Amino acid sequence: MSKPTNEKQGFSTRAIHHAWNPYAGTGDLNPPVHMSSTYTFPTVEDGMQRFLGEQEGYVYSRVGNPTTVLLEQRLADLEGGEAALVTASGMGATTSLLWTLLQPGDEVIADKTLYGCTYSFFNHGLHKFGVTITHVDMADPANLAAAISAKTRIVFFESPANPNMRLVDIAAVSDIAHQYENCKVVVDNTYCTPYLQRPLELGADYVVHSATKYLGGHGDLIAGAIVGDAETLTQVRFYGVKDMTGAVMSSQDAFLVLRGLKTLALRMERHSQNAQAIAEYLSTHPKVDVCHYPGLASFPQYALARRQMALPGGMVAFELKGGFEAGCRFMNALNLITRAVSLGDAESLAQHPASMTHSTYSLEERAEHMISEGLVRASAGLEDTADLLRDVAQALDAA
Ligand SMILES: *Cc1c(COP(=O)(O)O)cnc(C)c1O
Repeated sequence: MSKPTNEKQGFSTRAIHHAWNPYAGTGDLNPPVHMSSTYTFPTVEDGMQRFLGEQEGYVYSRVGNPTTVLLEQRLADLEGGEAALVTASGMGATTSLLWTLLQPGDEVIADKTLYGCTYSFFNHGLHKFGVTITHVDMADPANLAAAISAKTRIVFFESPANPNMRLVDIAAVSDIAHQYENCKVVVDNTYCTPYLQRPLELGADYVVHSATKYLGGHGDLIAGAIVGDAETLTQVRFYGVKDMTGAVMSSQDAFLVLRGLKTLALRMERHSQNAQAIAEYLSTHPKVDVCHYPGLASFPQYALARRQMALPGGMVAFELKGGFEAGCRFMNALNLITRAVSLGDAESLAQHPASMTHSTYSLEERAEHMISEGLVRASAGLEDTADLLRDVAQALDAA
């Protein structure tokens, strides 16, 4: 039973309270962590009815647990979707959704720039089972319009894209995709979170998340989520996750993500402030060729960013004039900003795609996917702005 909620409540109020009644049951202010793999049936008839879906209640935690279900209710509410399903990782979210929706012979059209493991899942995983993968530069929606056909089942992209920050116009791309009846739009909203951008409200069909990043927010777990219509998510739950991927989120991790959500709005404001300051500093520095940040007036898609995102977010990418070697020198000179992949943590993190996440790409592949040799990706954390700027300045001296 949940407290009656007022539709007009704001984002933070819902992130803290939605779907939990602290006065019910034992009166816990915080939802307890339900650590049970299985659930009991008072009689065989109860068990039968639960299996048939005719009786409310839990059966087995691979298909649902009270702590993960509370997190699902909260995420669905924050993204403005009918339902959500939480998973063991961001990759668990994307794979569970796509294995459920796709058949051999279908086509996925994906943006040219994707999180590395999503790229591998498409081109090595799905491809092996007879799904065609086509990459187009979706920064210009006309490229999608030219490539799409009746066999396109999924249009998939990130905005901003990892790692080079190119944006995709979610409303324009969704309009093009929906000219085909069976075509669904999936947006990886990890970089923005629903506080900055709600793709479902702009016309997309599904949102996937790596909750490992901003939603969890403290670098202490691996988790994912899917948000969309209830009917599809029921299929993903009882088929995609239950029978195919088994990518189940634990109740402990669900508890930590629920805790992270309580401060999501505050954190996203601070991440954005720090990223804006870093981006402004980088954009005029002589060793920096270009800084990619949606909050800079010089950003080519600045108008789209203003329209589509509430704030420019915590991720900054920049290209050093000195290429690969300068990227390595900059990274090694960092003192406060930590050398690590991942993002969205309290700690500021930096990575150099050419030597790290995209080091297995050939030079030609990196160029094809718009990842230059001197590109550095930074996740602005929650530290004091002046300390971050000092660290960036001295690392640039060394670069
Ligand atoms: C990290 C990340 C993923 C994968 O999520 P995991 O939780 O690591 O499985 C997917 N997309 C983006 C944009 C990411 O940053």
